[in-house]
Amino acid sequence: MKGKIFVITGPSGVGKGTIVKEILKKVQNLYLSISATTREKREGEEEGVHYFFKTKDQFKKMIDSDEFLEWAEFAGDCYGTPKFPVNNYLSCGKDVLLEIELQGAKQIKEKCPDSILIFLAPPTFEALEERLIKRQTESIDKVKIRLTKAKQEMKEVKLFHYLVVNDKLNEAIDNVQGIIVAERCKIDNCV
Ligand code: 5GP
Repeated sequence: MKGKIFVITGPSGVGKGTIVKEILKKVQNLYLSISATTREKREGEEEGVHYFFKTKDQFKKMIDSDEFLEWAEFAGDCYGTPKFPVNNYLSCGKDVLLEIELQGAKQIKEKCPDSILIFLAPPTFEALEERLIKRQTESIDKVKIRLTKAKQEMKEVKLFHYLVVNDKLNEAIDNVQGIIVAERCKIDNCV
């Protein structure tokens, strides 16, 4: 049986990275898609682990040669899901987790209608703002851009199959895990 695509989307700073890391530890047979990006590497990030870091030219070549399952611009940089590894996992019956932004999630929904889309929301917009400022990974200008994006993204929650609010981290992790387990147990997946 073919694997399934699980998409996790949510505003920058909502805690997607932390939740994804925990989910990958807890859920068997689930593989993370490593995206390509033109954004600068942050401290502690590693090539091929967090992202494949590309120049704008390299990224454009990948677009031209149809290497992406989806790609989008976000806050001035490009991000994309390489097609080949995802298709490889799926055809071996392995499930794949994509941690991507809204435009990408929309593309996946269209191209791969069986995908399961999970939206991760902050308890309040203020909590998100505080988190983005505190983590100090972007300049204040970039934080502002990300917050504007967050407002737009939160308006489109109805495109998703599930909504998880990241108020208490452990509960949010349990909920995402529960969604994955339930989707795997669906009758139409087993017959
Ligand atoms: P960051 O710069 O904080 O790592 O990521 C910025 C945004 O890009 C996040 O919302 C993240 O989920 C999203 N993102 C990461 N990889 C991809 C990808 O391959 N495609 C799309 N569309 N978004 C991505």
